[in-house]
Amino acid sequence: MSMTYNAFDTARAQFDKIAEILDLDQASRDLLREPLREFHFSIPVRMDDGNVQIFKGFRVQHNDALGPAKGGIRFHPQETIDTVKALAMWMTWKCSVVDIPLGGAEGGIICDPHNLSQREQERLCRGWVRQMARNIGPLLDIPAPDVMTTGQHMLWMLDEYETIYGGRYPGAITGKPVGIGGSLGREEATGYGLMFTIREALRELGIRIEDTKASVQGFGNVAQYAIELYTQLGGKIVLVSCWDQESGESRAYRKADGIDFNELKGITDSFGGINRKKAITLGYEDMPGEKWIEQDVEILVPAALENSITINNVASISENVKLIAEGANGPTTPDADKIIKEKAIFMIPDFLANAGGVICSYFEQVQSNTNYYWSKEEVLSKLDARMTDAFISVSNMAKKQNIYARDAAYILAIDRVSRACSSRGWT
Ligand code: NAD
Repeated sequence: MSMTYNAFDTARAQFDKIAEILDLDQASRDLLREPLREFHFSIPVRMDDGNVQIFKGFRVQHNDALGPAKGGIRFHPQETIDTVKALAMWMTWKCSVVDIPLGGAEGGIICDPHNLSQREQERLCRGWVRQMARNIGPLLDIPAPDVMTTGQHMLWMLDEYETIYGGRYPGAITGKPVGIGGSLGREEATGYGLMFTIREALRELGIRIEDTKASVQGFGNVAQYAIELYTQLGGKIVLVSCWDQESGESRAYRKADGIDFNELKGITDSFGGINRKKAITLGYEDMPGEKWIEQDVEILVPAALENSITINNVASISENVKLIAEGANGPTTPDADKIIKEKAIFMIPDFLANAGGVICSYFEQVQSNTNYYWSKEEVLSKLDARMTDAFISVSNMAKKQNIYARDAAYILAIDRVSRACSSRGWT
């Protein structure tokens, strides 16, 4: 996470601003601007060559007033405790804004899995669990995959947890493979969830989806499922962009009368990279990736990476853009966000727009705890209901108080958590 800024400072600054608006008492501010619990530990791992290497592990439980904490575990060589603390805090707000009974956590191990064999990775996962077993679990804190961790890692972690406790506790960890405790619909969840919020926002703006065009940054997991559903509902995607491994730059592919989703998907690799030569052969206009933001469309969907709408390109957003839906985490810098707010473009903020993933993880946990699994249709229809309700709560708050949707989402999320803390008698 080569960040030029400290993510935890950013997360705290956002919180402080909303604490001021909500006029929170000092104890609530002191409690919520820091994690409740923070674990730092060393994990000795016997490497394949016989030597022991010591890895640094973390877990941060920011707040669990609304329910057991939930959050990812990432493997990264530049992992820092401040990144983990920020992600844990954002997770608290994300669960709260979509009204699921979970708190926020995040964890990690400083390591580069590319340099570790499968057996070394397995021992590392088991070592992390041995350090944390007393402080995680289905009723305490439920880990999930994140950057560079997979369903396989989660399964090794679960197996170690179950070995220690001598039973089966499938609800102790989510992101498990389907068939061994995973949930159907997880793959679609974030992209579909994003689309459900777009559908609701258009309804509110009085715009028919069939009359809209959209431009999307990214063509990975989130973007693809959002596009699939959007085109099924009658919308037209005029441009998608992606990272082009061969040229080492981002490229955009445009078709003014609408892209053919299945055709493009057919020439895309598993990392969301579209084959440039084939796209050109199929008649797509090939242009620099930055062009995604300049399109004459009603909807912009940044669904690739952070800091992609900045003070340097925000002015090139077309007058016709009515809606921005943040599929990615943190795609808009604060200075650009201020301008979008002034332009009165409807903003669906990241921690609401991309919450489909965590909602589905919650569903996985519920299914695992009851050891009864739902059909994909059931998962996706429950996801639709949750996302729609969350969107309506945020937009009602924004209308009632005449504020920007991002601020409304934060106010709603932080208010819910601080009320839970005070109802419990913590503050
Ligand atoms: P992914 O790896 O499947 O896809 C990423 C896409 O972005 C690829 O198409 C890639 O080519 C493209 N990309 C990379 N750099 C680019 C650039 N400079 N310009 C244009 N395109 C570029 O990732 P994903 O799972 O779809 O996640 C996308 C974003 O959504 C991330 O910010 C992630 O944190 C966030 N998110 C994902 C989930 C989830 O469930 N997958 C949940 C919440 C948030």
